[in-house]
Amino acid sequence: MPCRACRHAILGDEVVAHIRKLVDAAPPPDQELIAALRPILTNPAQRGKGATCTGPNGRGCLNPPSTDAP
Ligand SMILES: [Zn+2]
Repeated sequence: MPCRACRHAILGDEVVAHIRKLVDAAPPPDQELIAALRPILTNPAQRGKGATCTGPNGRGCLNPPSTDAP
């Protein structure tokens, strides 16, 4: 799955802005849904491995894991 930066590049600024508007307008998700999504939402640890994102064109991630990250 593309990382946040590449998803943004794939979708484009307008679509991202539109999604944000919809998210802002939507009611907050209930606790059961949050619990169900938690395994996905708490998965960014995988991002550091750089193995899951191939970028918007499959040519490489736009936001590769930084080597100087703490
Ligand atoms: Zn990426």
